[in-house]
Amino acid sequence: MDFRDTPEQATWRNEVRTFLETEKPKIDPEMNPMEAMRRGGGFMKEWREKLSRKGWVAPAWPKEYGGASLSVMEQFIMNEEFAEARAMNVGGMGTSMIGPTLIIHGNEEQKKEHLGAILRGEVQWCQGYSEPGSGSDLASLQTRAVRDGDDFVLNGQKIWTSGAHTADWMFMLARTDPDAPKHRGITYFLMDMKSPGVTVRPLINMANGHMFNEVFFEDVRVPARNVLGEVNRGWYIGTTTLDFERSSIGNAVGQRQTLEYYMKFWKDSRGTAATASASTKARDEFADRWIEAATAKMLSYRVITIQAEGRVPNHEASIAKLFNTELSQRIARSAMKMIGTSAQLMGPEAPMKGRAPASYVQTVSSTIAGGTSEVQRNIVATRGLGLPRA
Ligand SMILES: Cc1cc2nc3c(=O)[nH]c(=O)nc-3n(C[C@H](O)[C@H](O)[C@H](O)COP(=O)(O)OP(=O)(O)OC[C@H]3O[C@@H](n4cnc5c(N)ncnc54)[C@H](O)[C@@H]3O)c2cc1C
Repeated sequence: MDFRDTPEQATWRNEVRTFLETEKPKIDPEMNPMEAMRRGGGFMKEWREKLSRKGWVAPAWPKEYGGASLSVMEQFIMNEEFAEARAMNVGGMGTSMIGPTLIIHGNEEQKKEHLGAILRGEVQWCQGYSEPGSGSDLASLQTRAVRDGDDFVLNGQKIWTSGAHTADWMFMLARTDPDAPKHRGITYFLMDMKSPGVTVRPLINMANGHMFNEVFFEDVRVPARNVLGEVNRGWYIGTTTLDFERSSIGNAVGQRQTLEYYMKFWKDSRGTAATASASTKARDEFADRWIEAATAKMLSYRVITIQAEGRVPNHEASIAKLFNTELSQRIARSAMKMIGTSAQLMGPEAPMKGRAPASYVQTVSSTIAGGTSEVQRNIVATRGLGLPRA
């Protein structure tokens, strides 16, 4: 593989980089992105408008829907540059998940109602797929939707619903034909979170944060016009993706930046009480992590190479996800060892303002969300190595 940009790619990279240098909001680089977003009403609005003028709120969407029709390689370069500059994407699930699905499966009325609002940042969406008994085996979901006149009536429960407490709409799957084989009796709904009968209960995670929720449905009426695609065909709609790049390059770059941050702290504070481990052992650990972060980047390059050739990455994307998420846990563990007993301290007075212990607990969920490590390994085993299913 040739790692150098073609002349066209170099021009594109330069355009993105120049834009970021001149237009990116100036925020404290130490502030974590969630915190920045919470504080940043004004500058986020301005940032969205700047991105919107270039079609970069949803760069993968076709131009006719307000995107930039970027090729997967252009998206890759853009994502790499955004990650290097620590620039925030503003889209969320609206642009990455439900928007593309609406573009392919929505009727004109649905597209008109939702796509513009997503691009303008007027609405937030959440994803109602997982249930208490259905995560990896999602097709076993039990939330029921029964037709009643012009509506469907929903009863059941979702769980781990990220952002449900701030979302205006949910895209969700519910069972409409309990007698059909499990993949065939599921319908895809667009549900207004203000509908009577919807209850959102917070789940506080182990990092003491409120990110995901339980959502209960009690006789919730969803108009039949809010069914996306055909009734009982929702499973196949749920698996749609537009031509998004799937390399996880943003994560790979982020791993290296996190390591740079920890290593700078270590160098600056060697011999002080803040670092317990000035030993060669810590140095060896960080060297290993550094090599792994470089490997993560190569795995991303592998995925984008496949996509750029017009092929669909499969187990290769699973390998990148698996490696990146497990690496984020190893990096956090190495940072914890470096600061020794100080690793128990959180808050502004703690070493690195408590970033290492926060990351240590936050990264636990990364190997569960978006498909667990075991499920990714199954994909690698069966589709990559051709091993038989257990
Ligand atoms: C931070 C976070 C955010 C999330 N946000 C959302 C969201 O917004 N919307 C949403 O719908 N869901 C969300 N989820 C849920 C997520 O999709 C599920 O947690 C995930 O799919 C795993 O399902 P589960 O939790 O039911 O675990 P299970 O599927 O019950 O798995 C339990 C254990 O069994 C293992 N296992 C399961 N099947 C197999 C198999 N075939 N072979 C080997 N091992 C197996 C798993 O690896 C795991 O270790 C989120 C989860 C997290 C952690």
